[in-house]
Amino acid sequence: MAASDQAELRVDLAALAANYKTMQKHAGAAQTSAVVKADGYGLGMAQIVPTLAAAGCKVFWVAQLNEGIALRALLPEAVIYVLNGVPRGTAKEFAAHDLRPCLITMAQVEEWQAYCQDNHQDNTPLPACLFVDSGFNRLGFGELGVAELAAKPQLFDGWELSLIASHLACADDPTHPMNAAQLERFRNALAALPKAPASLANSGGTMLGPDYHFDMVRTGTMLYGCSATAREEDALLPIASLRAPLLQTRQLSAGDSIGYGATFTASGEMTIGIASLGYGDGLSRYFGTHSPSKVRFTIGGHPVALLGRVSMDSLAVDLTDLAGLARPPAVGDMVEIFGTDNPIDRLARQGNTISYELLTSLGSRYNRIYS
Ligand SMILES: *Cc1c(COP(=O)(O)O)cnc(C)c1O
Repeated sequence: MAASDQAELRVDLAALAANYKTMQKHAGAAQTSAVVKADGYGLGMAQIVPTLAAAGCKVFWVAQLNEGIALRALLPEAVIYVLNGVPRGTAKEFAAHDLRPCLITMAQVEEWQAYCQDNHQDNTPLPACLFVDSGFNRLGFGELGVAELAAKPQLFDGWELSLIASHLACADDPTHPMNAAQLERFRNALAALPKAPASLANSGGTMLGPDYHFDMVRTGTMLYGCSATAREEDALLPIASLRAPLLQTRQLSAGDSIGYGATFTASGEMTIGIASLGYGDGLSRYFGTHSPSKVRFTIGGHPVALLGRVSMDSLAVDLTDLAGLARPPAVGDMVEIFGTDNPIDRLARQGNTISYELLTSLGSRYNRIYS
């Protein structure tokens, strides 16, 4: 077989289905919906979504209208919520693709209502989610906005309030006082608003227990095998592994430097390998600038340190300690950037980032293999 100079991203769809079932168990009586924004967290919405649907998922979330339209083409039956809401003049498109906006401002509520009352001929009230801000201060109705809505019940005429949702800021830290504070504000909002099913928890929120589950949880990162809390052991099955082939190995002597900026200098004899993956593939250059000596990948399960700066198409790893193996690393061998030997959450910590960012930064020139 011909060797490849291409990195490969393997996605284990059976593990994804298993993770969905595990999240269902964590969610207890609440419905488990799946968040597939940003192309299924970078893993490929078109491949991810049929697996989740086959595993029993009936409700999906994306961030933007265009993502919702793409998702509808994949799933004719599912319920699809769009987190960013309904931008001015787009209600018709939402209706045409049977998408449910998360209404985040009074203008959006009025727009949705007006569309349902004026344009929707068969007079079926179209469903939408009302998004409440319980302290994140990102999107949705804050306390004053909720009070304003509660004071004008006629704003709910003509459309269907299918869900009231909010989002947690600190669900990754079960001890954070923000969780209980947001829970209380969300309960107050639910008490003030017309009765509807409710949803508060993302993956981390699901792990906070039944108080946070309400009628539906919205799971993203844990489905994809990343932990939603600071605890690596909370991660479910890894579903993605990223590996890049060695293109060349080289011997260095004391004083030789590596890469752009010559930021790493060998203090003695070394063996290094050049792997076919760089910042052009989504591995931030930051990995090689802030403290590269901490960053570890693996070859055949053995840790190898990143050396010097990450280039656009390649990076250098230290093979010196593996030179004594019965079969030392050679051209064509795969460096695991993250995967089963090198958990994505660990790599994210070494790069001072989070696994969400690693996944959504994934590049497009890998050989993508879905199994
Ligand atoms: C992205 C997102 C989620 C999913 O969060 P995870 O931490 O990936 O489970 C849920 N709800 C909202 C509003 C989001 O923006």
